[in-house]
Amino acid sequence: MLSFEDFSGQSAHIAQLHADFANHTFVHAYLLCGPRGTGKKSVARLCAMAAVCRSDGARPCGECGPCRRVLSDTHPDLHTIVPEKGKQTIGIGVMREVLDQVATRSFEDTTKVLVFPEAERMTPAAQNCLLKTLEEPPQDTVFFLITDQPGTMLPTIVSRCRVIRFHPLTQQDCEKRLIALGQSPLDARRRARMAEGCVGQALQIDDERLALLERVTKDVFSVHRPGDVLATVNLYKDDKERQKLVMDLLETAVRDILLAQAGKGTLEESGYAREAAAYARAVPLSGGLKLSASVTRARMMMASNVAFASAFESVLLNISEEYAQWPW
Ligand SMILES: [Zn+2]
Repeated sequence: MLSFEDFSGQSAHIAQLHADFANHTFVHAYLLCGPRGTGKKSVARLCAMAAVCRSDGARPCGECGPCRRVLSDTHPDLHTIVPEKGKQTIGIGVMREVLDQVATRSFEDTTKVLVFPEAERMTPAAQNCLLKTLEEPPQDTVFFLITDQPGTMLPTIVSRCRVIRFHPLTQQDCEKRLIALGQSPLDARRRARMAEGCVGQALQIDDERLALLERVTKDVFSVHRPGDVLATVNLYKDDKERQKLVMDLLETAVRDILLAQAGKGTLEESGYAREAAAYARAVPLSGGLKLSASVTRARMMMASNVAFASAFESVLLNISEEYAQWPW
């Protein structure tokens, strides 16, 4: 079972949250915000467990009946509110139903916990409906609004919540967590880099994506002359599903190349092709910065519907031009 300590690096308020829930001194609404994969949902679940736990000792114990029912998602007083099937948003109808449930007695005579894992999906009308409840909160009820887009919440809602911000871990801490969760050290390093320190995201990276990082960096940094560009563009131009992923991977690679060029990291054994490491050695930081700017431009081109092939080509041309200036 995960514990509060596992998330201590992700928010400055984890210990306080733990104490509030273990001692039943929590407030009635929390807004947990921060990037995807930083532990918001897991922490909300731990809080729910601590709130309903029947142990006399440390809470949550993870072993009493209520704790086990939270772990298996069968606790009758733990409600997770998501859009109805086939819908993208949580409308006022769903919200009214939920709040009606809250107004009735709890099933197990414990705290009722309502979790909105994607709170940004609430429509403004649903948020206004929720606001009325937050203004006169029912006894022994706690709301968790979880989002990576806190800007979508009405300011009036935010002002009624205790806001807890979550952050990605440093590369090293993320690696350590992944190793503790059973990843090999090599995989942990690769995943931590690609997910930029967000443990949850790192765990979701599949093996195919890890393999693609090596393939993309091999193809891209083998472009030594302008004459090599077209053949490499052709490798990816028809693979629509992967095009955004290719740009994502390239962005990750460029960030790590810049660090290597600045003497602050190494590309070896991080999942990159040796061609990427060779580029970082051959081209100085000024060239890496130009490459970074060209990837940003390519992204903007794609966002304004320029074909992937043209955007990708502009990045590859930049790489070949840099190679031309520096002996390799
Ligand atoms: Zn318990």
